[in-house]
Amino acid sequence: MRRWLPLCLIVLAALVGAPAAVAALPYVAVDPGHGGGDTGAVGYLPAGTPTGMTPRIDDQGRTVLYEKDINLDIAQRLNAWLLANGGRTLMTRTQDLAGGDRPSTTTGADLKARTDLANAARVDLFVSIHNNALSTTTSGTETFHYYYSSAAARTLATAVQRELVGALGLPDRGVKTAGFYVLRNSEMPAILVEGGFLTNPAEALLLADPNVRQRIAEAVGRGIAAYAAQGVATPPRLAPTLGPWKTKPATVPAGYKLVKTGTGNPVGRGGWIAVIVGFAPPPSPLPATIGPWKVKPKTIPGGYRLVKSGPKNPVGRGGWLAVVNTASP
Ligand SMILES: [Zn+2]
Repeated sequence: MRRWLPLCLIVLAALVGAPAAVAALPYVAVDPGHGGGDTGAVGYLPAGTPTGMTPRIDDQGRTVLYEKDINLDIAQRLNAWLLANGGRTLMTRTQDLAGGDRPSTTTGADLKARTDLANAARVDLFVSIHNNALSTTTSGTETFHYYYSSAAARTLATAVQRELVGALGLPDRGVKTAGFYVLRNSEMPAILVEGGFLTNPAEALLLADPNVRQRIAEAVGRGIAAYAAQGVATPPRLAPTLGPWKTKPATVPAGYKLVKTGTGNPVGRGGWIAVIVGFAPPPSPLPATIGPWKVKPKTIPGGYRLVKSGPKNPVGRGGWLAVVNTASP
């Protein structure tokens, strides 16, 4: 036994010294939202606030923070983090320009250039960096995946959101679904990160700080590494949806199935859409059940239906229970 000890120590040292998840880092398209003529959200800073970037003054002389600038700065930091950890990356823009470093163009062409680049390069993941806009008091971090995305995109969004919330300490607005172009047209798991709200003066000040932008970048990087470490199955390399169409098409390409979109659906409302075979709707954010009640309630919240629970039911035995509607989209 004794003569094996030095070898064991060498192996142990190698394991301890190995950087976590480095070898497993996927090939990532890093997408800095907006750019060029499209500033994205605008935040207002106290005059002369340093940002570590080219100062921006609007036509009324106010010190402003453009979302396009901080998105690019965070994306460049994320790019550097991924490369430093042995990853491979593709930046969808590297300057204050539209997607693909093209001069300002239409929003449609800008977005298409981004997903075209990622699809052509056959990257493993698409990560779009944004910051938010709503009211001056809205606050927090949220991460989106496409409503019809693979479970892999959901897993990635969850891993990144967890790291972001831990790193920033802003309110957790959760993992959400949306129909954004870049999520809908990426042929690989795609997410869109909204770090904080530029329209909230306190969060604009936070985002003006280069150290905070570095924290965001590293959190997204750690989220990607955490996702990679989970060994999630690679979904088929197809756009998540085709359509929508108002009338049911006669055929859809191989690998897709038709679904009718309901009124509560964020995409293709009330029409037809082709989704990848094997698509499963995202888990409902609503509690699975409400109640039980001994007597039937007159009304229940949207998204639920009432069921009478029988004597064998483990919940609400012999009473009424509201359960989440899990009808397919
Ligand atoms: Zn944005």
